[in-house]
Formats: sequence, structure tokens, C-alpha cells
Amino acid sequence: MYLAYHEETKDEAQHRIWTFYEAINIKSATLNSLTFARQVSETFGAKLCLLVIGNNAQSIAASLQPYGADTIYLVEDKNLEKCTAEKTWGHVITEVAKQCDAVFVGMNSGTTGRNLMPRVAGKLRAGMVTDVIGMEGRDYIREMWAGNVLATLEVKTPITVGTIQGTAFSKVEPIGTESPIKQLEISVPETKTRFIEIRETVSDRPDPTEACVVVSGGRGMKGPENFKLIEDLTDPFGGAVGASRAAVDAGWISNDFQVGQTGKMVAPDLYIAAGISGAIQHLAGMKNSKVIVAINKDEEAPIFQIADYGLVADLFKAVPEMIETLEKEAL
Ligand SMILES: Cc1cc2nc3c(=O)[nH]c(=O)nc-3n(C[C@H](O)[C@H](O)[C@H](O)COP(=O)(O)OP(=O)(O)OC[C@H]3O[C@@H](n4cnc5c(N)ncnc54)[C@H](O)[C@@H]3O)c2cc1C
Repeated sequence: MYLAYHEETKDEAQHRIWTFYEAINIKSATLNSLTFARQVSETFGAKLCLLVIGNNAQSIAASLQPYGADTIYLVEDKNLEKCTAEKTWGHVITEVAKQCDAVFVGMNSGTTGRNLMPRVAGKLRAGMVTDVIGMEGRDYIREMWAGNVLATLEVKTPITVGTIQGTAFSKVEPIGTESPIKQLEISVPETKTRFIEIRETVSDRPDPTEACVVVSGGRGMKGPENFKLIEDLTDPFGGAVGASRAAVDAGWISNDFQVGQTGKMVAPDLYIAAGISGAIQHLAGMKNSKVIVAINKDEEAPIFQIADYGLVADLFKAVPEMIETLEKEAL
């Protein structure tokens, strides 16, 4: 939280435009956090504006047109193609927020948002709320201690900067009209930071944050070779593989797949947890899944408390049977 306090009240700020910033890749979490964006603009009686930054990003801006924003601002420059938080994207967001007289500047709480938005808050001398899951009046709600406590945050600065926990919201619905796109010229300063490369894991399967089905394995998998079972259960659904931190820390699977408080936040239609006990830090990353299936040989395992379907069984017997059934169904 930035400590600068401005004397202006929130009522005086009511007429201001609400700006919502999103990255150039539109992911499902982006559309989820737009649901929150609408909620904030209604709460403050403010306009909903989106900002798209990039190079040749016209098509990204166009893809956001059906979702009810009053205006979509587009800032393009060859130096904005990749995100560097310090001066380029951070600078652009700050300048647009000032020009629009924003009351709230928000972004999905992914790795980019977590890097970028604190810098934006610093530049704007704004109070910051992180991992927001909802609003109560004009206050913001976030989870603490892996979801065991709900905090209600009042922000006293005229502008609030926030990161939004997309998994807490459903996807925004199109409203049937197209938002106008407005190109803005913002000069991009020279920086000492240069984007060199991003090394992403290449996989035929979707990312766990994007998939409709995620199948995760934990310490109960006993070793890396057994993650083949998780893959075989995932593939008939066209889903993603996930893992608990215990499996990641054991070196059985890359940390790109870790689900939980310090991993990825997922909310698929179906989440299957095999050999995962259900520690609060794991639940923090998947408890918003629509249907949760747990396979564990210990009937006291905490994962069963949040599972919609629980199978007390040895996963080395149950999972091959499930794969066999799915393969028969597919024939
Ligand atoms: C600050 C912090 C952050 C953390 N962040 C995360 C995070 O992001 N994600 C995360 O996952 N964890 C996280 N953790 C770790 C978390 O506390 C747990 O240690 C971890 O989730 C346990 O993983 P697990 O369930 O795979 O292992 P365990 O807790 O050891 O559970 C293994 C389960 O497998 C079952 N099992 C064993 N054999 C079989 C079998 N043959 N058939 C069926 N079931 C079987 C057992 O009954 C047991 O329930 C974090 C911890 C801390 C302190």
C-alpha cells in the first residue's frame, strides 16, 4: 500500500473515468477480470475504458470490442512490442491513467500484472490492492493466508491500482454492441532495460490456466515416470497437466505446472487431483474449479472436504481404469 494521502474524497472523484488495462495477449483470465471491471465501473458510476499496448495490436483491440467498454484506447510503438515494466509499459499506463483521470487502474493478476502494477501505483502515488476477488461497497476484498481469511481494504488515495484474481470471476459476456477504439500517441522514453527473449515451455497441451480440464498429480505419484498416467488421463479431455508443489520440489515435473498459492491459479470446468492431500496452499490455486474430483487412498485427506466427487482408492488402480473407460467411450 502506498502511503501518500490526498485530501480528495471518493465522492469528488466519482465523475472520473475508470481505466482498465490489459496486456496484448487476451487470455481467459482477461475476460474473467473484465467482469470485475464492469462491477467497479458500476460501483463508481464511472466509464469503463480498456487500454491495449503493443505493436500492431489493432486486432487485439478489435477482439475486445464486444465487451461493453465505453472506449478502448490503443497505444502502439515498436518499443512496446514486449513488456518491460520500468519505463515503457509502466510509463504508458501511467500517462493514459492521468490523461483519462482514472479512479481505478487494474490488470489481471498474472506474472505481468504482478510485475507491472506496483510500478504503476508508485508512479501514480496510488494506493494498491492485490489479488482482488470482489467488492463490498467501495472497498476491495482479497484473500489472505492461502484463502483462510478475507480482508476488506479501504483505499484513501484518489486513484486505486489493483491486480485482479481472474479465477474468482466468470467470463464477461458480450453485450451486442462494439466499443469504439481510440488511438493515443504516447512518446516512449529511452530505457536502460532491453527485452531480449522469453523462454516459454512448448507443449501440445494447453496451459493449465487456459484449459477446461486440468489433471494434477502429487507426491502420491511416487516418481516422475508415473506422470505418464496423468498425461494419459488428461489427453482424452484435451486438457492440461498440473502438479502439487511436492511433486515439483521432488523434481518430477517442471514448476511451470505447479498449481497453488505459489504456482498457477486455475478454475477449469473439471479439476482432477490424484495423490494430492489438499494442503491449503494447493487449494488456494484450484478451489474455484467448477467440478473437483479427488483420488486419494487416505479417506481423511483434506482434499475430500472440497471435492464434488471423491474416490478413496489407490490411484495406480483407479487411474488406469478411468483411462480405459474413457478410451472405450471414445470408440
Ligand atoms: C509458502 C508456501 C507455499 C506453498 N505453495 C504451494 C503451491 O503453490 N502448491 C502446492 O501444491 N503446494 C504448495 N505448498 C506446499 C503445501 O503445503 C503441501 O506441502 C503440498 O501441496 C503437498 O503436496 P501433495 O499433496 O502432493 O503431497 P502430500 O501432502 O504428501 O500428499 C500426498 C497424498 O497422496 C496420497 N497418496 C499416496 N499414495 C497414493 C496412492 N497410491 N493412491 C492414492 N493416493 C495416494 C496420500 O494419501 C497423500 O494424501 C506451499 C507451502 C508453503 C509453506
